[in-house]
Order: sequence, then C-alpha cells, then structure tokens
Amino acid sequence: DQPAQLPARALPTAAEGPFAAVAIEKSVDRALDYAIPKTLVGSVVVGQRVRVPLGRGNKPNFGYVTAIKPTTDYRDPSKIKPLLGIDDKRVLIPPTLMELACWMSRYYIAPLGLVLECIIPSAVKKRTGVGYITFVQLAKPREEVQAFLEKAKAPKRRAVLARLLQLEPGHSVELLRLAKEAGVKPNTVRKLAGLGWISLKAEVDLPGMTADTLVVPATEVSIALNEDQQKVFDDILPRLSPPAGVDGSTQPSPSAGFSVNLLMGVTGSGKTEVYLQCIERVLAQGRQAIVLVPEIALTPQTARRFVARFGKVAILHSGLSAGTRHKYWQQIATGQAQVIVGARSAIFAPVPNLGMIVVDEEHESSYKQDQLPRYHGRDVAVKRAQLEKVPILLGSATPSLEMYERVRREATAGNAENHHGGTEARRATRNSADHSQRHDLKQIDQSRVAAGAKSSSVELPSVPPCLRGDSSSSNYHLLSLPRRVRGLSLPHVEVIDMKQEMRMRRGVNLFSQRLEYMLTNTVAQGHQAILLLNRRGYSNYVHCPSCQHVVTCKYCDKTMTYHRSTGEHTLSAKIMASAHAGQLHCHYCLAVNTLPTQCPECGKLLSLFGLGTQRVEEEMQRKFPDIKFARVDSDTMRSAKDYEELLGKFGRKEIQVMLGTQMIAKGLDYPNVTLVGVISGDTALALPDFRAAERTFQLITQVAGRAGRGDLPGRVILQTFLPDDPTIQAAIKQDYVGFAERELISRKEVGLPPFARMARIVLRDEEADKVQQTAEELAGELAIAAAGTNVQIKGPMPCAVGRIAGYFRHQIVLQSPAATPLQRVLASVRARGLLNKSERIAVDVNPVSL
Ligand code: ADP
Ligand code: ZN
Repeated sequence: DQPAQLPARALPTAAEGPFAAVAIEKSVDRALDYAIPKTLVGSVVVGQRVRVPLGRGNKPNFGYVTAIKPTTDYRDPSKIKPLLGIDDKRVLIPPTLMELACWMSRYYIAPLGLVLECIIPSAVKKRTGVGYITFVQLAKPREEVQAFLEKAKAPKRRAVLARLLQLEPGHSVELLRLAKEAGVKPNTVRKLAGLGWISLKAEVDLPGMTADTLVVPATEVSIALNEDQQKVFDDILPRLSPPAGVDGSTQPSPSAGFSVNLLMGVTGSGKTEVYLQCIERVLAQGRQAIVLVPEIALTPQTARRFVARFGKVAILHSGLSAGTRHKYWQQIATGQAQVIVGARSAIFAPVPNLGMIVVDEEHESSYKQDQLPRYHGRDVAVKRAQLEKVPILLGSATPSLEMYERVRREATAGNAENHHGGTEARRATRNSADHSQRHDLKQIDQSRVAAGAKSSSVELPSVPPCLRGDSSSSNYHLLSLPRRVRGLSLPHVEVIDMKQEMRMRRGVNLFSQRLEYMLTNTVAQGHQAILLLNRRGYSNYVHCPSCQHVVTCKYCDKTMTYHRSTGEHTLSAKIMASAHAGQLHCHYCLAVNTLPTQCPECGKLLSLFGLGTQRVEEEMQRKFPDIKFARVDSDTMRSAKDYEELLGKFGRKEIQVMLGTQMIAKGLDYPNVTLVGVISGDTALALPDFRAAERTFQLITQVAGRAGRGDLPGRVILQTFLPDDPTIQAAIKQDYVGFAERELISRKEVGLPPFARMARIVLRDEEADKVQQTAEELAGELAIAAAGTNVQIKGPMPCAVGRIAGYFRHQIVLQSPAATPLQRVLASVRARGLLNKSERIAVDVNPVSL
C-alpha cells in the first residue's frame, strides 16, 4: 500500500489539500507541509512516521506527522511536494507523547523532529526482528469442504481442512500453528491455497510477540508495610485512583489525577516497597506504570525486585538485543507489558493506559541527557504525569534542591489553601498519627517561611507553567520515611582528619590508621566492606617536580590521567612510571598516549600526583594481601554483564571488599556490608560548580547508606582534608534537611537555582578566533532580546574546559529569577533561526553542570 519511491525532480505537484505538517528527523526547526497523495488520504494520521522528499534533490527523509490540515500557509501551494509514504503503520506516537514532545521541543530548544526521533527506539524504526506471519482462512463454502472431507482420500489435506472447519466462520489461524496441529508440513498447507481451498494472508509482525517473553512468574509477595510506610502509602492512596469516570467500578476520588509526591526517605527506609505497593494498586485498575531508575546496569537489584513482584515487567536496559527492544516496545504499546522499568528514555514508553510514574533517586544527574534533545528525565516525567493526569512518585534520600524547594513551597501553599477551603475529603479521614508526621515537615516549612520573610526583597520564582497543576497547587505532597526499616539504625559516621593523619604518620597515606584497622577487623569478622574513591585511573596528574610542567591532552585543556596497564599488579608506582608500563588517558576526548619517560620540557623524571582507583588498588594489594577485593570502575566494568557477575560474587561473599567509583554508591543492598570507607570525601567538593556541595552531600549520604542494611550495625569512615566544612558536617549527621536549608539560603542569597533559571549555550569551533566571534555575535543578539527583562546574559567566555577534542569552546549563560522571561528570550532568538542552525551550537536549558 506504499507508493514506490519517486525519482528525484519528477514529483507531481499538488495544490489541493489535505496537507500534512511533518517534523523531519533533522535539525530543521519547524514542521514542513506536504501534500497527502489521494491514495493515502485517510490513512495518514498525526503521530505517524512518514517518508518525505527534502531539499532540491528530493532526498527521501523520515519525519513525523504533527498535523493534518485542509490548507497550507505556503505562498505557492502548487510547489508543495507530496508525501512519499507511511513508514510503518504500527508505529504511531500516541497523542500525549506527541504533546510531550512538543513541550520538550519548546522547553529544551530542540527541533521537534529530533525529539520525536529520540522517542522511538531505533530498533523500532529499523524494524529489527520484524517478520511475516501467514494466516490461513477457508476460501470455499463450508458445505463444499464438508462434502470433500466425506469422500476425498488425501489424509493430509483432510486433516488441514478438518482443522479449519473447527474455526468459527470467517476466522483465520496462523499457518505454522495449523500445520503443527494437523501434523503436516507447512508446504502441504500452502499447496491447498494453490488448489483454491484456502486463502493466505501475510501480516507483518514480530515473531514471538504473543509468546510469553514477558511473563516471568512473580516469585515474591508484598511485605507488610511498617508504620511509617503505611502512613506514606495511606497518604498517596487516594491519589492513585483513576480520575472520575475513567473506571466505572471505582469510586471516583476527588484527589485523583495529577499529583507530585516527593518521598524523602533515608537509605534503607523501604522506599522501594512503597513504590511496589503503589504500583500494585495501579495494575489492579488495569493501568500501567513507568519506573525510572538512574542506570539499570548500576541498579540491577532494584530492577529485579520489580520482576520478582510483578509478572509482566519490561526492563529496558542497554544490554537488550535490538529485536527484544523492538518486541518490548510493541508489547508496551499493546498494554501487554504492565510495568516498564528503565533509564531516562523509558519515560517515552508508549503505554496505552498510564496509571502512575515512579522516579527512583530523582536527584541523580544521569537523568539529564547531554546530547540533543538535552532533557532531564525527571522533569519530563513530571510533565508527562501532568499531561496524562496521573500521580508521580519521586523518591530519594537526598532530593535535588530543585525538587525539594518546589514541592515544599507548593505543598505549603496547598495546605494553606486547604485550611481555608478544606474541601478535600481525604483530609477529614486522615488519622492523627499522620498529622504528627506532617507536623514535622510543616515546622520546617514555617521556619523556612520565616527565614524567607526576612529577606523578602528576593522574589520567589514561580513554578514554570509546565510543572504547575491544572487547578490548585495542592497536588504537591512532601512525604517522609525518617527511619530505616526493622528498627535498623543509620550507620555511624566517623570523620578522619587527613591533615592530622599526615602529620602523625609523615607523608601521604591513602588509608588512615583507623580505616586500616576497621577494614582488617571487618573482614576478620566475616563481614564485607565498600570503599569509595570518586576518580578512576591511577593518578590524575603527571607532573614534573623540577620544572612544574603538567602533562595535558594534545586536544583538550585538561590534564591527562595516568592509567596503569592491566595485569601487572606487582610493580611499584615508581618502577611502573619509569618503565612506562601504562598510558595517559584523557577523560574528555578519550585520547590515549604513552607515558613519556622524561619531562618533555626539562628532561627530568616525571612523577605521579593525585589519587585514582588504580592507585588505591595497588595500595590495597600491598597492605592487605589476603583480602579478596575487586576494583569497580568503568575501566574494569566494560559491560552490564561484568557488573552483574561481580555483584553476584559479592553477594556470595567470594569478594570481601569492593573498591570503586560512584558506581558502587548507588542502590546496593547487601546485608553483610558493615563498613563503608570514603577514601577522599573532598574530591567532589573541588568541582568548579555551584552544585559541588550538593553533589558531595549526596554522594557521601548515598554510599554511607550501603552500610548496616542487615542486622549488623553499619559504620562509615570518612577521610577528609576538610573536616569542618559544613557540607561534610551535614553529611556526617546524614542530616538532609539541615543541609538543604543552609544550602538553599546561600543559593538564594546569590540568586542561583532553584531561585533562578539558567540556560547555557556552548559554541565550538576548530578555530579559536571564529568561535569567539560567533559567540560574541550571538551574545549580542541575546542581549538585544533580553533588553528590558530581568534576564541576565553572562559571557561569552571560554568554557571551564576551553578546548575538547580539538574544538575551542565558548559559553554564554542566561540567568533569570523566573523561567518564563528566560524562555521568552530564548524563543525569540530561536525564531530567528540562531539557535538550531548548526551542531556547533548547543543549548542546554537547566544544565546540571556548568
Ligand atoms: P530504600 O529504597 O529506601 O533504600 P528498600 O525499599 O530497598 O529501601 O528497603 C531496604 C530493605 O528493607 C529491603 O531489603 C526490603 O526488602 C526491606 N524492607 C522494606 N520494607 C520492609 C518492611 N516493611 N519490613 C521489613 N523489611 C522491609
Ligand atoms: Zn583530550
């Protein structure tokens, strides 16, 4: 049913409608109108992927129908080209996802076609694994077949026809199945078609679609919630019902619909169990749930719990084959998959009847995509929940300050409203215990309000319209799980002042005496430990002690990191360096050089500086030769499978200590881990970013949370050169609220997010002069657009890393106390084609790092 591709330059013209507006999978920042050929009128619908000719050569391109319209705004409709065909009828972007994509395109300054392209997995677009299934139907009247059966001899044909007669009139059966059931070869069936007895119809399908690839028998039943969990669950429950009228059998709830629920729960407080039980409710209503996790590879335990609890779970991870990915997509689109667990792009799962969204570890910066479209999975999730009118549950032990501030403010506003209006039924039924829990949060709110009132000259930013609920703002809810499950206590954190340690023991020691002692002790008792060092490689500086030369990357303004060759575990650092049995890696452009024997400047011997996981590994081997340990970083863990295997060994206690980067800080739940050592609590604090403190707090709290999850109490040894730093102090107490309140006050004072909106524009070019000139021109345009608004244009200035992979980089930062004016400035410059004209201009709205 698809017209053959037309030769270039010979396209018929079509002045008559209807027309299709098509967003092309290219950096074309507007939809283009195409005429719908007569044969396709009625078949072409919004959300379809279509083939269209583009440019002078009429090269076929793919795009998505964004509208069907009777007329076109083109000046000369006779020049409008016809659409070439529908790419795949089964691939259809549902209306809410279409709307979501339009919002993303506007909000993140990304061409709509590119947003839509990233919504559909490439396995689906490439039709990986698609085959044909042939269906068989009787082609002659049943009486005639009956008569044939009574007199004919051919037993095989009779078996086939007899089976077909058992079908209800007009029904068909899959050819392979029919052959099997009749005990004949498929060809025997096909021959009957040649004889006119049956008709065959081939349908495009994914083989195995209907087979039970998804159905894994649920092996786990729900745990009885503890008191804290029950309170949280009871609070959310009314909001989990379908909105009035959606499901006749359920009492429509006044609180149903869109709501944002931020669950602040300390590590090991049983947040996941709350997610599971909420989802159970939603599935019981015949609706589906999407669960976002930061990185599946790093959280296999969490993903597995969903599979163990529910039958039809699609886990979207990077290790899936393209065929399976395609199959999953279809199973999601047909509602066969009920729970979809995946990293950020899982938010685009085309579920037909969404009931709720869960975002685990909502603070994780890996939710942000660093390529076009530069979206934040958590924010897109909130927007989708709003569009689909469903609740979203965001969980974290260390919520992002953006989300914490927004929800707290909105929840306070909502509560105030309800004190006056008091209409919501659930508030009447809420028990008093629930009140006491709310009370804690309210107290914080009030103290905050008081603190804010003092400096009331600072205007509070409004929530962007995209994240605001339809009716009142009371659909924001702050919930908390302040204690660990089963009465377990949070691990005790001990701080080791490394300055003092150095004085005491002369020279740099990677392990303080205390950590050394505790590590030996822990292992001797048969327990396990996790050691964190947030930097891979061996040492992050290669430096000449005589002339101070530091080896930098040839292509980037970055020092190179020394990586020791693998497999040579016995040589000491010095010998390794002089024998140059290792390489220099650039973590930015991934360039690899051999380690120079001598300083390229003065010819003296180079030395290694700064810590990396390899260095700690070497020290471990020297100090604790009997401890079985593994280094876990992206150098040793090349695939999700490596990591799974390693976790398996750790679970079976074949490994006593895991030493690694932030990879091991997340989500791991091993009851036998009683010790967590943070080799250097300061590495993240040193980042040149206003979120450095937030990152440090999150990382320490998260990794500390791995200890003491079983019946044995946990202990954390935190080594730092900055023991008095307030962030380190808050992390020691694992006092999120204390940290957040202090940090929010300082962010507010200097007007940083969440009290400001930011966008960052990075320009790059091989030539330094050219990038500077382009950046200055763009900054000029932005300044004109921002005139008379409260949007500040900062820059252009060279980026923190001024050159990467041979490209010089300049940045312009836009900052405003509120989102709307900033969006307006960007939109006006974008409308003039200045932002999406080249791949060398990258716009990042709400950047997670600067
Ligand atoms: P979080 O996600 O907050 O870190 P989890 O949901 O992973 O916490 O729970 C930590 C551990 O406690 C898990 O092993 C889980 O099975 C267990 N758990 C959760 N809820 C309960 C409960 N109500 N009673 C007993 N154990 C529980
Ligand atoms: Zn480089």
